[in-house]
Amino acid sequence: MPELPEVETVRRGLAPSMEGAVIESAQVNRPDLRWAFPAGMAERLRGHRVLSLRRRSKYILADLDSGETLLIHLGMSGRMLVSGDPLGQFVHDHPAPEKHDHVVFGMDNGARITFNDPRRFGAMDLLDTATAEDHKLLSVLGPEPLGNAFSESYLMAALRGKNTPIKSALLDQGIIAGLGNIYVCETLYRAGINPKRKAGQIADARVAALVPIIRSVLSEAIEAGGSSLKDFRRADGELGYFQHRFDVYDREGQTCHGDGCNSTIRRIVQSGRSSFYCPTCQR
Ligand SMILES: [Zn+2]
Repeated sequence: MPELPEVETVRRGLAPSMEGAVIESAQVNRPDLRWAFPAGMAERLRGHRVLSLRRRSKYILADLDSGETLLIHLGMSGRMLVSGDPLGQFVHDHPAPEKHDHVVFGMDNGARITFNDPRRFGAMDLLDTATAEDHKLLSVLGPEPLGNAFSESYLMAALRGKNTPIKSALLDQGIIAGLGNIYVCETLYRAGINPKRKAGQIADARVAALVPIIRSVLSEAIEAGGSSLKDFRRADGELGYFQHRFDVYDREGQTCHGDGCNSTIRRIVQSGRSSFYCPTCQR
């Protein structure tokens, strides 16, 4: 499942083809994905220019000159493919429509943008740009971890008195937007905090230290995604999935990367999600 850095990588990969371009054609091949598409979606997109392509949490938001914003959610398996006339390094051949190509945009610069999603947990919606933040998916979100509203004092206040494990608290989208399982595991490893520890019982200084760690864990992953775009030569034109080296995530049974630590990475299940951690380095 794509997390914030993967979605940001998709956004960066789409931007050269979409920002400033007009959606000449919009083809919607089915009535719904996870939810029904908004009424008249193709007609409401057609002929409109994409003013900017931004991201909020794991949602890509395309602001249009019609005053509406197209919200794109990749869900579990959604992929954005860029094909069509040469537009630089991110454009690839995608000549024949595939089975799971649900939405296809033809841009006036020659790019074709295809949303392909075999499992159909993805979603698209159209919202008024002026009140986009009030949308049911966006209004529940806490601050962006890479934005200014996310600060040490904010996080200390948000976790104060919380009886839930720190792992669950950091996954709570109302506390921090867009942080998912992989990067929470990596954050807690770097912070030396056991994922089972109760959020409200962690000393303020350790909570404060989480803020720069969360920022660097995400920034490094975004950077890795950026380099995956740079030498992006995959035949299918798929954006956003890249190899990244993790310290604990998916490393159950392997030796800890910590200096002088010979412990084995453990996996436990918390709220139905796997937590990977080092029992020696994380207290
Ligand atoms: Zn260790």
